[in-house]
Amino acid sequence: MKDPITISITGAAGNIGYALLFRIASGSVFGADQPVNLHLIEIEPALPALQGVVMELDDCAFPLLKNIVATADLAEGFKNADWALLVGSVPRKAGMERNDLLGINGKIFTGQGQAIAANAKPTCKTLVVGNPCNTNCLIAMSNATGLPKNQFFAMTRLDENRAKSQLAAKAGVHSSQVTNLCIWGNHSATQYPDFVHAKIDGKPVTEVISDREWLEGEFIATVQQRGAAIIKARGASSAASAANAALDTVMALSTPTAEGDWHSVAICSNGEYGIEPGIMASMPIRTKADGSWEVVEGLEIDDFSQGKIDATIAELKEERDAVKDLIPG
Ligand code: NDP
Repeated sequence: MKDPITISITGAAGNIGYALLFRIASGSVFGADQPVNLHLIEIEPALPALQGVVMELDDCAFPLLKNIVATADLAEGFKNADWALLVGSVPRKAGMERNDLLGINGKIFTGQGQAIAANAKPTCKTLVVGNPCNTNCLIAMSNATGLPKNQFFAMTRLDENRAKSQLAAKAGVHSSQVTNLCIWGNHSATQYPDFVHAKIDGKPVTEVISDREWLEGEFIATVQQRGAAIIKARGASSAASAANAALDTVMALSTPTAEGDWHSVAICSNGEYGIEPGIMASMPIRTKADGSWEVVEGLEIDDFSQGKIDATIAELKEERDAVKDLIPG
């Protein structure tokens, strides 16, 4: 049996946390031969609820779950972490401006970035789910002194999965037949689900779905507004699909990407596709056999796509500027 790996999760008593933990503990994420330790991090008021989650984890008697830590202490929570899943963040309340939210959450991610750098393994990978996730991730990465920037990610996989499911439904195929779907930019209403490079059964989507007006209009709007549509329908946010996408991201970054395909996740730009270096932007990513990753470069970007990418990157720059006091150096 392998040595256990440690997964630290903030917001562990929340809705997404509840949908995440049991799948990690069951072995369905890291494999049936990989024991795990779960470090569950919550704010003090949520510790009693977290205790209930721990009781349920105990009651599952998962063979692969070795140790559970439930804590509000970041140093203890991130100790020896192999993965840090930053899920907890303060939700936007009525009357709150976006910049207020950026500032409130920014302070949380400053401390978490520092605590990861001080306590986690030097190889720890961090995935930010809590919104606004791109900018929260930028803050965590910038404050995690000593850790490589390429170990920080923000989640856009839910948008990718939503886009694949919409294209599959329109084409009358299964979602697994849709590949090469890249989400560009921010996990927000400005994100661009790139149908130009996406494929269905290896053919360009634009050949399979000839309705360009639908692709440019309703398709993009449906993906961008999907979270709001789910809240309207079920009266609660899309926690299960968000948790699923977080785990898809972890797996996609842990296993080699299928030949010719890519997956979407926000990473710190090095200037690829003309995106300003230092911006945490979603792009097409391939995970290599040695576990490292690279941006898929050389895709031709048409004028329509460029306009959409420019808009979402402009929003990310605004967000970065709003939190510049929280970014050292
Ligand atoms: P959820 O578990 O439902 O959501 C957590 C975060 O994930 C939110 O920022 C949410 O953004 C984001 N998110 C990303 N994608 C999605 C998606 N598709 N659907 C829904 N949410 C998405 O929130 P809960 O309120 O149930 O739980 C949050 C937990 O975090 C609480 O237990 C709380 O105690 C904890 N917390 C921890 C903090 C910390 O670590 N310092 C700070 C604040 C809270 P959005 O709000 O935009 O939906």
